[in-house]
Amino acid sequence: MSEIHQLGEHTFYIDQTTNVGVYVYGKNCCLIDAGLDKSIGETVLKLITDKGLKLEKIFLTHSHADHAGACAYLKEQTGCTVYAPGVCAQLVRYPYLIPTTLYGGFPSARMRSKFVMPEACECEELSESVLPKGLSFMHIDGHDFEQVAFCTSDMVWFIGDAVSDKTTIDRYRIPFLYDIKAHLSSLERLKNTEGKIFVPSHSALVNEIKTLCEENAADVFEVCTVIKRLCQNAISIDELIAKLLGEFGIKLYVMQYELIGETARSYLSYLTEKREISCVFDGNKLLWKII
Ligand SMILES: [Zn+2]
Repeated sequence: MSEIHQLGEHTFYIDQTTNVGVYVYGKNCCLIDAGLDKSIGETVLKLITDKGLKLEKIFLTHSHADHAGACAYLKEQTGCTVYAPGVCAQLVRYPYLIPTTLYGGFPSARMRSKFVMPEACECEELSESVLPKGLSFMHIDGHDFEQVAFCTSDMVWFIGDAVSDKTTIDRYRIPFLYDIKAHLSSLERLKNTEGKIFVPSHSALVNEIKTLCEENAADVFEVCTVIKRLCQNAISIDELIAKLLGEFGIKLYVMQYELIGETARSYLSYLTEKREISCVFDGNKLLWKII
């Protein structure tokens, strides 16, 4: 059963599979992320309505379905305005782009499940001018096309999917990433950020963020090392994905294959830019090899 927990004078969060932030100003409130679907939206709306609050705005850290899926229901029920950073606002409006970019072509019905493709919702681009007094954001790109963290006047940070806890890293081994270089620089920025409480979307709250940032960066460096070892001999992307799944004991299903596939391609781009890996052709096959 979800509950609303107070973190500061104006700051609350609702414990869901995706933690939902609630920032209160007067009789109004805004959410930071919304959750996966209508059912989560109903729970969230009941909890804030029971506190006598009116939902005015939703601020998304990024576009992924487990953060944006409940927006359509909440907007329909309350007339609230939804905001997301940069191009993520367009992905919330046209969510078929999410499975399309994951798969690299027209996605089948299985690839368009609610866990990947949120219900379409009108969404505006986030800017400083639309924030309620006391709320601010900073860019922490890398996990999605764009991503932001929000800080409330109580110095509580909602940091989206910038970090996973050690248990999650050990279980999934290759957390989804879009831009490895941007992710590493975001971890560096986040590590030195002042705050009283940090709320990751899928892990327990922490008072100190430095350790999580360092553990997540260490995981990226380890994945790079493994990929370079697997590319000692020229290897195709599909062979690399298969070997990564085997190496880390990751159970395969369609969504997982897509997530690992896009992340592996992002690692190859990162290592190519660092001139540690390059692509070669074997007949008509594109292969990847350590330099
Ligand atoms: Zn995400």
